[in-house]
Amino acid sequence: MKLLILGALVSLPAIANLHLAPPDFDTNRGRAIFVDFKTATYDITYDLKKRQTRVLSQITFEAMAEGRPLFDLVPLPRNAVLNGRPVAIREIAAPDGALIRQVDASVPPGIHTLELSNTFTENVKYGLFGRGVSSAFWIRDLKYRKFLEQYVPSNLEFDQYAVTMNVTFAGVSEAKQDIYTNGAVTRTSSNRYQIKFPSFYTASGHYFHTTPKGRKKRLDFTYRSVDGRDIPVTVYTSWWSRPGKFKQEALKIFAELEADYGPWAHDSFVAYETLPGTGGMEHAGATQTSLGALDHEMLHSYFAKGIFPANGNAGWIDEAIASWRDYGYQRKPLPGFGGSNLGLGSSYQRNTDSRAYALGREFMAYLDYRLQDVGGLKAFLRGYFQTYKHTLITQEHFKNNLEFFSGLNLTDDFNTYIWGENVGLPSRIDPSPHHRTLSRSNLLKLL
Ligand SMILES: [Zn+2]
Repeated sequence: MKLLILGALVSLPAIANLHLAPPDFDTNRGRAIFVDFKTATYDITYDLKKRQTRVLSQITFEAMAEGRPLFDLVPLPRNAVLNGRPVAIREIAAPDGALIRQVDASVPPGIHTLELSNTFTENVKYGLFGRGVSSAFWIRDLKYRKFLEQYVPSNLEFDQYAVTMNVTFAGVSEAKQDIYTNGAVTRTSSNRYQIKFPSFYTASGHYFHTTPKGRKKRLDFTYRSVDGRDIPVTVYTSWWSRPGKFKQEALKIFAELEADYGPWAHDSFVAYETLPGTGGMEHAGATQTSLGALDHEMLHSYFAKGIFPANGNAGWIDEAIASWRDYGYQRKPLPGFGGSNLGLGSSYQRNTDSRAYALGREFMAYLDYRLQDVGGLKAFLRGYFQTYKHTLITQEHFKNNLEFFSGLNLTDDFNTYIWGENVGLPSRIDPSPHHRTLSRSNLLKLL
């Protein structure tokens, strides 16, 4: 019950996480400031006749200091309006050279509104002669700028805010589309849908996939959680596979993960099976994944999208936990390397270091050894997850909680293996088979 109350407290809309943002910085046009998104509404129109996707966004944000607000959007922003006045949007480099968007007008502290338009072509495929569209808001965490900003204007991962998507299929009187999402979807007219997402999601949490009606094989069922909830589950597959097989695997993994870490932290689960060997990607209570990576991606609904990394430097933690499980929760008196700088990226880094799997699971196996007198690392992770679900974590937060739980001082260990110098690393560090780098054309084939 105590955990339920905690969950309710942190689920309040527009959680202020600005203290987790990278440092503001100076540019030749003045101070660039990170801001706190309160709400974002994305009106997305799939024009089936013109085969074009348009977005009109309205963002309400709070500035805590005076300066030019930062956000991100990979496609070109157009027709931007700040507090009712036209404004330019520039693409600038953060201090580490990473690109980011900046509103080219200074704002005082307070609440502001930004409107802008864009089109996007990433992971969109139109049928011929107005026969529907396939589109997915998939993400990649090992690559840079591959979260929500591929499609719509978003904040960086440090922010959690309520998103509403209004999706219109224009050019037809009645939309014949299926929608798969981890938000709450309502059909508002014959060709329009509204999707409301939980306010604890970050820019890497939302799952949205639409396909022409009947294109995928779909199975809906419920899973009885250990906390008594009947959790709605949707699995869907393409013509070459059977959703029944995917369902059986999902049920098995639900039971394992709930036994280890506690109740599923999401209102539902939606999973799309992609081709064998393509790996997968996790969203919050959702995934697109091959059957072989389903367990890894469901684990991420606890670590990655149950508790979320606040930045790219914290991204190794959830991949290390997932990989530690993939390899059978090993316990080792020493990691299989002498030292690394795995968590020492720039404060502005947004993607996860691809060495997180191999080095991270060795470090977790070592932490499990260090924590053996207090129940091992899994005992810690269970409490850590249940206490901090739906919130963001940093590396320091993880370390501090490990030390509090165990009574150990882990400073030397982190300074050596995570924040140190590369020592004794294998000449080749295998990237995970679970998060393969897929080309743009390969991703289009999965739609
Ligand atoms: Zn992973």
